[in-house]
Amino acid sequence: MKEKLSALKQRLTEAYDIQSAASLLHWDQTTYMPPGGIEARGRQLAVLERLAHQKFTDPEIGRLLDQLRGYEADLPHDADQASFIRVARRDYERRTSVPADFMAEFSDHSTRSYQQWTVARPDNDFASVIPHLEKTLELSRQLADFFPGYSHIADPLIDFSDPGMKTASVRQIFSRLRQQLVPLVEVISGQPATDDSCLHADFPEDQQIAFGKTVIEQFGYDFNRGRQDKTHHPFMTKFSLGDVRITTRSKLNDISEALFSTTHEAGHALYEQGINRDYEASPLGTGTSSGVHESQSRLWENIVGRSKIFWDHFFPRLQSTFPQQLQRASADEFYRAINKVQRSLIRTDADEITYNLHVMIRFDLELEMLEGHLPIKDLPEAWNERYRSDLGLVPPDNIDGVLQDVHWFHGTIGGSFQGYTLGNILGAQFFETALTDQPTIEAGIATGRFDTLHQWLAENIYQHGSKFTPDELVQRVTGHELTIDPYLRYLRTKYGQLYDL
Ligand code: ZN
Repeated sequence: MKEKLSALKQRLTEAYDIQSAASLLHWDQTTYMPPGGIEARGRQLAVLERLAHQKFTDPEIGRLLDQLRGYEADLPHDADQASFIRVARRDYERRTSVPADFMAEFSDHSTRSYQQWTVARPDNDFASVIPHLEKTLELSRQLADFFPGYSHIADPLIDFSDPGMKTASVRQIFSRLRQQLVPLVEVISGQPATDDSCLHADFPEDQQIAFGKTVIEQFGYDFNRGRQDKTHHPFMTKFSLGDVRITTRSKLNDISEALFSTTHEAGHALYEQGINRDYEASPLGTGTSSGVHESQSRLWENIVGRSKIFWDHFFPRLQSTFPQQLQRASADEFYRAINKVQRSLIRTDADEITYNLHVMIRFDLELEMLEGHLPIKDLPEAWNERYRSDLGLVPPDNIDGVLQDVHWFHGTIGGSFQGYTLGNILGAQFFETALTDQPTIEAGIATGRFDTLHQWLAENIYQHGSKFTPDELVQRVTGHELTIDPYLRYLRTKYGQLYDL
């Protein structure tokens, strides 16, 4: 059996290595590749993804998995080898349900669609992406149909990124959360607007990036096993557990852009860098779901990186980096500015509370498109109508409307947005448990020390990679299933103080 297990591991390692080579090409495409490289790059990515798919779906893997059933059954559920076999089987069954030709077609289409989006967005040209999005919708529906037996067509797409979650349960969680958030936003909107002018001066990019780097190094991000580069739409990517990269973008006149995209992506990277090194190039060697991943990015970006105690410590350092720009600001003003609640048009610029309303709009529109109730040509109007009703604003153009996010232009329509709000909910649930287990965490943050928190997360969440499903992990770490209560407690305490509620 040991031989069969190592044969399985070897085959999967080869498949993951090809997949990592494709990720490297994709990283290059969004950071340094000149525009002339696009045609060939689409073809190259399609070839690598096809090869990886062939490796992952080789019938010999199916045979090995079958032969290992008895061996797996004799091991405890959380043993590394049992978990390796279990997760490998889940992934194998998923992958063998989708033909390689289909995957290659989707990959090639995504490359073209992404490239068109980078041209269409600055030109406010929705018409030019309509055929791309129509094809994406058709392919997304076809992809879901490879998994018959779902109750909602979005279920299989959600299950890819958040295993175990269903459209119906996400809808229920979101509707309960929305009931609480809408009145909260209403009350805050009735208060005098927060002055956030201290965020807007000329902040040279190099110094912004350098400051962000010192912060995430203190969080525990290991630059010997990572690096940071610039891109349009920040992301984290991994080529091995020893090479976990992040990207960022900056704005000269808004210091919050680079700072919080850096702390956000670093949160994702800390998760991947913290995975048990024995899980390298295996089905266990990545974060367990997009919701749990977002819980980590948001925990570091928001719960830590936008907290009062964090800025009481770090503001004097920021001020000495930008003495002229910040000379008249205080730590308290800065803290209020970075937590300004405001109805706005751009998801990635939104505050912690309204952010969820942006996500819910996209989630609902995805469902309507998949259900066939919303044709792509009517999407801008539907988008604008929802912004009017939920946030009281109408985008002046599609640049700040329906063209703002990359997701539908580089992946499926459906299954892409729910993870952000699930992440906000889970981040608060994990953090509340961390504070109970380790009451010194906050005193650490107040002095710029994050080791106790980082170790707690590594021990309870990071190291396990994909060994546990999100439901298993949340239950195991917090003793409860996913619940919105800690998140609501967190928001009410923080914003109650900020806005005298
Ligand atoms: Zn993220």
